[in-house]
Amino acid sequence: VYRGRFAPSPTGHLHFGSLVAALGSYLDARSVGGEWLVRMEDVDLSRCRDEYASSILRTLEGLGLHWDGAVEKQSERSSLYNAALESLRPWTYLCSCTRREAGEVYDGRCRAGAALGRQAKTLRIEAPKEHREFEDRRLGVQRGSVAAAGDFVLRNSEGHYSYQLAVVVDDAEQRISDVVRGEDLLEATARQIYLQELLGYPRVRYLHLPLARDAAGQKLSKQNRADPIDARHGGCWIAEALRFLGQRPVTFDEPARMLAQASAQWNWQWNS
Ligand SMILES: [Zn+2]
Repeated sequence: VYRGRFAPSPTGHLHFGSLVAALGSYLDARSVGGEWLVRMEDVDLSRCRDEYASSILRTLEGLGLHWDGAVEKQSERSSLYNAALESLRPWTYLCSCTRREAGEVYDGRCRAGAALGRQAKTLRIEAPKEHREFEDRRLGVQRGSVAAAGDFVLRNSEGHYSYQLAVVVDDAEQRISDVVRGEDLLEATARQIYLQELLGYPRVRYLHLPLARDAAGQKLSKQNRADPIDARHGGCWIAEALRFLGQRPVTFDEPARMLAQASAQWNWQWNS
């Protein structure tokens, strides 16, 4: 059974970069008659807003990208993440370092106990040196480092669960079979596979899509204020995203018909 998902962070409106991820995962699911879920990755509530979540959902609907089931919100799933942390306890420890002290690649100095007299609130997991191999459906066999950033954070000092933890728990709990997402997350995959192993979850299949960039070569993101998608011009945006994904053009029509044609001719085996 194919089950895919689109998991945006409600930190801004839907833009072209996130539309590409949404469309790619939607078509990959629908082309094989699979289910497609939407989940709000709002673990970091300080950066997320309800109005963005509703705007993203409204735009998806306007584009004919209808999802199955209820939209889950990570902010309402703390008990699941807590249970996972409980299972991971043999490999985790509390760290008292500030973000600055920890640096880009944390050296694990709190493994043997946090510095005396300091509050240790950040929960980290020991990252093994061994790489993880996985097959990406577009990019082929990948070897990824689990320890690229050293022992990584599962819950930060403000009590927010990390993306790595939440995404692994949610994908398993929602029985996702296929993760289709942007190539910027390729690097995080080995860490996520490591967590899946420790938690006894099944592996998922991965398809990392090419990343949409602006004229200057920067990844399109809410941070650099990529233009919001206007669903009133849905057909144009869908045509543009299909072109970006290297798909054959579809007849210009209302979004639902364009999506039906696009999923019938979806081909993820890029020539590149
Ligand atoms: Zn530390």
